[in-house]
Amino acid sequence: MKIINHYIDSVFHKQDTILEEVISSIEENGMPAISVSASSGKLLTMLVSMTGAKNILEIGALGGYSGICLARGFGREGKLTSLELEEKYTQLAYGNLSKAGFGEQVTYMTGPALQSLEKLVQGNERFDFFFIDADKDNYENYLNYCVKLANSDAIIVTDNVLAAGSVADPNAKPKRYTELMKKFNVAVANHPQLESVIIPIGDGMTLSKVKK
Ligand code: SAM
Repeated sequence: MKIINHYIDSVFHKQDTILEEVISSIEENGMPAISVSASSGKLLTMLVSMTGAKNILEIGALGGYSGICLARGFGREGKLTSLELEEKYTQLAYGNLSKAGFGEQVTYMTGPALQSLEKLVQGNERFDFFFIDADKDNYENYLNYCVKLANSDAIIVTDNVLAAGSVADPNAKPKRYTELMKKFNVAVANHPQLESVIIPIGDGMTLSKVKK
């Protein structure tokens, strides 16, 4: 995966000052370097723009890197709701989205995502694009909430589904993370309301279309 990703980035990556500043701000604040890759971010922007999605839900904000990529896809007309556990991360993400010109189009809900998702269900909210990128233990729960909150034909993108390629490696050392992602992939593939495929970019992203 590393070689392929390096090749893609070397051919397609263009300098992006705003996103580079987000990465620096994450480092300066002692936060983990686990934003999506540049190519994965580009894919998010293109998917939002190509589907015309205007109401997006993100699960896992960190410093706002993927949030900016999603918002770039809808430009001036759209709304991003982002769920994040850590107050410090939410604040940095909001600052970075504001610098990128999307401060008035983003709402952060701080706290465990499962609680925020339940509030959104109770409030009868609906979304046409989802990005799941938080704690892997809850991926299946997040997926099921996204289906509940989806408009018909909504798109759900889920990150890290190849777990650095370990899900496909028969010689990989047994790891809980790998097992979680393997189980999640089987659940997505067999979900009666989803049509899905994995795109092997970054750490692997599943693209699912909701059938309602
Ligand atoms: N999507 C971000 C990006 O590419 O810019 C990266 C997100 S990072 C991989 C995962 C995030 O999920 C972290 O910021 C972490 O604090 C958050 N997180 C972990 N557990 C969570 C939970 N139970 N509820 C909400 N957020 C959670």
